[in-house]
Parts: sequence; C-alpha cells; structure tokens
Amino acid sequence: MARAVDFYDEVNPKTGQRKRRWSTVKHNFYRVQHHNYIARFRRYLERHGRKKQKIDQVDDYVFDMFEKARGNALSVHDIDLRRWALKKAMDESLHNFTASHHWLLTFKHKHNIVSRKVTKVVTKRATQSKETIKTSADLFIADVRKRLPNYEKSEVINTDQSGIELEIRSTRTLSYKGEKITVGAVRSTNANTHSYTVQPAITLDGNLLSPIYLCLKEPTGRISENIRSHLFKTSNVIVTCSSSGKLTTSLVEYWRDQVLLPSIGQRKQFLLISDCWGGQTYGKGLYDHIPGCTRLEIPRSTTSQIQPLDVFFNRQMKVIPRRIYDRVMLDELDINMSDRNNIIRLTSLNHNQLLSERFRRMIQYAWYASGYTDTHPGPFETVADVCFSLDVATCVVPTCDAGPFICCSWCRKALCFTHFFLSYHFH
Ligand SMILES: [Zn+2]
Ligand SMILES: [Zn+2]
Repeated sequence: MARAVDFYDEVNPKTGQRKRRWSTVKHNFYRVQHHNYIARFRRYLERHGRKKQKIDQVDDYVFDMFEKARGNALSVHDIDLRRWALKKAMDESLHNFTASHHWLLTFKHKHNIVSRKVTKVVTKRATQSKETIKTSADLFIADVRKRLPNYEKSEVINTDQSGIELEIRSTRTLSYKGEKITVGAVRSTNANTHSYTVQPAITLDGNLLSPIYLCLKEPTGRISENIRSHLFKTSNVIVTCSSSGKLTTSLVEYWRDQVLLPSIGQRKQFLLISDCWGGQTYGKGLYDHIPGCTRLEIPRSTTSQIQPLDVFFNRQMKVIPRRIYDRVMLDELDINMSDRNNIIRLTSLNHNQLLSERFRRMIQYAWYASGYTDTHPGPFETVADVCFSLDVATCVVPTCDAGPFICCSWCRKALCFTHFFLSYHFH
C-alpha cells in the first residue's frame, strides 16, 4: 500500500506535477484495480501510522516509569505496567488499547524485563541519594590517591569498629536437597543478640596493627577490679567494655592512646582513614593533636564500597570465630562462648592467626578492591584456604587422636579443637 501510494504521489521537482499517470501505476501494481484504492490506502496508512505512533508513545512512557521505579529500587509488577500503559493510552485517546496479555509479553520481551527475587534490601532514602554517594566515594578515593605518594605503604591505615555477635553462626550449612527451610540453631536466641566489638586496623602494605582492641558488653558498663584480675591474660588484646558493647567517644580515645599510638611505632607520619561512625560528632578532634597524623573521614554511606575493612577484611576476620562457635554447638562442648574469658581467648587467637605473613596479600587486596591502588597483589589465600583446607586425619599432637580443627597459619600444623582453642595455640 505504502509503495503504491508513494509511486503514485511522486512529484517531478521541476514542474511540481505528478511524474506518472494512473495507468502507469496500474501497470506496475496490477492488484491495485481502481483509482479509488489509492485514496483508501492513503486514509488507512495515515490512521494506522498515527495509531502506531501513539502505541510507541505508550511504550516509551511505561518504560520510563519502569526505569524510574527500579532506579529507586521500588518493586514493579505486571499490573503496574498495564496500569501505566492504560493511563497513557487514555491520555493519548487511544481508545481500543487494552494493555492485553500479549502487549505485556511483547513489552517485557522487548525491554528484557523478567521477574526476579529481591536479594538485597535497601532503604528508599539510600537509593535516592545513590548518585550523590557515588560522587562522594569517587572524590574521596581521588583525594586519598593524590596523597599516597607522600606516604610509605605502611603509613596508610584503615581502622573501624566491627560488631561481632555472640554465638554467631554460619550462614551456610550442608543440608537436605530440596528442603523448604534450612534452620540454623543458636544456643539461646537471647545470646545471639548480644555482641562485642573489635577494632582492627590494617595498612596499605597488608599488615594488621597489633594489639587488637576488644570492647565487651557489660550491663553495668564497667569491669570490676575483681573480675579484671581474673581475666584471661593475652599480649595482643586490649580489653575494655561498655554497656552496649559498642564504642563510645572516650573508648575511642582509649583506643587511640592504648592501641593506635603504641602500634604506630617508628612511623613519623601516617594517613588514617576511618569512617564517621555514630553519625554524631564522635571522633571529631580525636586525632588533631597527634604529630604527623592526617585523618581522612570516609564519607557517610560509602563504607561498604570504599572502606577496605568492609570491602574484604571484616568478613575474613569472622571466619575463625564462626568455625569455633559452630564446633562448640555441633559437638555440644561444655564451653560458654559468651563468657568474657572465652571471648578474649578467641579474639586473641583469631588476631594472632590473621597476623601471619600468609594473609598480607589478602589485606593488600582489600585496598585494591576498594579502589585505592591499581596494583593487584596477585593470587592470595583466604582464611578458609589457609586455616580450613585440611587433608590430614588427626591432630598433630602425638598423644592426640582427635580429628583436626584448624591448620595454623604460622606453623602449618593441623590441630584439634582442644589443642588449638583450649590449649591456646599462640605464636
Ligand atoms: Zn601454629
Ligand atoms: Zn589434639
């Protein structure tokens, strides 16, 4: 139809008149029997063309709405697509349009839209400022990278507090294929909500500062002298407490004086990267009077993307504690893992294992993955690789025939739970 109409309508540019007579058209398009057909074709094409255009507008509108909604992480269903389509069709006085099932399928196919399970939940506000967050993260990284040439790699430090739940359990387990719900047990659901906090600090060259800071949760907010004198003695854990198990400003001050400054050692200057925790004025001025200290504050809401500890290290730090909790539960060992001394012992052993040279590349990778350096440290082993890929049958202690629990990151010996945890295998 379109070709016939165009053929008939073609105009000689010089004369402004039709190039061809009707008989020529009829000769070329033998199925166009009568002159009337051309007029009818013209009307049809015009009407159809307008309709097509309107349907395209509906499509554009619906896709626009869809993109906006997903950009804000809002859930969209079939019924919403149809609702938007019908509304737009009404606005365009496209009266026969029903947003049929067929239309819906075609629309989804065309734009690659399928139904998916939500696997991550965010707050609406967080998504609205996603662009802003991205920009501030990029600016921060750029600022740090600009400063890096002025520092040794050992002088660039990232620190943050990290809450550890008592009786944390593995989020995975072997279980029956096809079962609907996979349950994970905790000794008491109450203990699961209790927590303590550790504050690790890592350097750009892949070291972990030592000692590590541990904040216990004590309902009274203090540890009495009597209790303190019976605390498990370690050389690599500084123990403090608060009623919430979280750090307060004065506890961060204590960390600064008891942990940061002693572990800085010979460094004349250092770059401290930490986040603005608490959302308060916490931490303000805390580092002002330390000679050679430059503190850069990781912008709000960007830590999951650009804080090396969050990006890679903290999860690794929880691998050994998790295995220990799991073993205590599985074998019904008579060990109360929410007991202060067991928390201290665990924190000390965990920290000691992570200090091994074998984990340096893993820590360097945390910086690389957060964008501070372009140099990939090369292949590295995770805590699971180093400590829990065991292929021996028994504990290394000659008199012991228990199965191995962990492979020590320092001496590479396979040890049973007793000879690692209870005997306090420390290097
Ligand atoms: Zn060892
Ligand atoms: Zn053993």
